[in-house]
Amino acid sequence: MHIIDMRSDTVTRPTNAMRQAMASAQVGDDVFGEDPTVNRLEEMAAEMTGKQAALFVTSGTMGNLVSQLAHCGRGDEMILGNQSHIFFYEQGGSAAVGGIHPRIVPNREDGTIDLKDLAAAIRPDNIHFPKSRLIVLENTHNRCFGSPIERQYIHEVAVIAHNNDLKLHIDGARIFNAAVALQTSVSDLIGDADSISFCLSKGLAAPAGSMVCGSKDFITRARRARKLLGGGMRQTGILAAAGIISLTKMVDRLSEDHANARAFALGLADMDGIFIDVDRVPTNLVFFSVKKKGLTASALAEKLDKEGVRVLPIPMDEERIRAVVHYEISPGDIQHALGIIKGVLDRV
Ligand SMILES: *Cc1c(COP(=O)(O)O)cnc(C)c1O
Repeated sequence: MHIIDMRSDTVTRPTNAMRQAMASAQVGDDVFGEDPTVNRLEEMAAEMTGKQAALFVTSGTMGNLVSQLAHCGRGDEMILGNQSHIFFYEQGGSAAVGGIHPRIVPNREDGTIDLKDLAAAIRPDNIHFPKSRLIVLENTHNRCFGSPIERQYIHEVAVIAHNNDLKLHIDGARIFNAAVALQTSVSDLIGDADSISFCLSKGLAAPAGSMVCGSKDFITRARRARKLLGGGMRQTGILAAAGIISLTKMVDRLSEDHANARAFALGLADMDGIFIDVDRVPTNLVFFSVKKKGLTASALAEKLDKEGVRVLPIPMDEERIRAVVHYEISPGDIQHALGIIKGVLDRV
């Protein structure tokens, strides 16, 4: 059976170019700073994000955690959206590992946070309060339809942060999807932020790894935090070689995923038993709701799985499903998946 796996863009397997680059990568001990391929990847990531330095880490979760550890001390407060990945899906590592106090404020549907709410969440200097140290934005915003967050908004948040002596971190797991959707460069998009983490292992198809970028001092602290967490690896040039292909060969084609996601959304919008707002599919994430009596999101996902179409029911939600488009999903796959979904719904 031909499997169309749209549970996530993390399921993408390394391309042939990646496998070849991995096989022939020059390597060294990266904890000693001696892996030339890792060093090259870090230089490329710094340049593409417009930051002084970068660090290769195991995952997006580690990238966010080392960033938080580099910006905040124990008992410090971090302000972030109530739909953010860090708050929802990272095991509360901020608190568990960093002793960092998360202060959540509401995300709007487009993934932004009302500037008034942000400003109001910043604490004045008072013996009773934790110290506000960090604001985090997510771009694209995973739980908010994969929305790309625009440069002007990031700039306005950065001004609020910096006027109050806070830092701004971007959880940019899919920042290249954002930049492609907004037709800009990542460095331009997030220039006002102090740090960013982004994933190589999602739409950019690397087998593993994320990057953290920021000032030299920040990266020095993040590098220490990575070692603390057990993320100091050795001949990781093998993995970095794939990451270099991600950054050189896999970015521009993300617009194809966005077009395929839109085609998928338009097809779903025509089906009885599905609700989708086609105007809320700006990048590669497609969220839709199951509106059929007696059919839950997880029951539909299970039926589709038996026919080779894999999607992700959203935890703690009876109706919502997420489907993610990536380079292994072709326009033909989109049409094939739509046919299977329609067939399953007709039979319920
Ligand atoms: C996937 C994701 C992460 C975490 O990345 P992992 O590599 O799975 O740890 C962080 N933030 C956002 C917004 C994500 O979508």
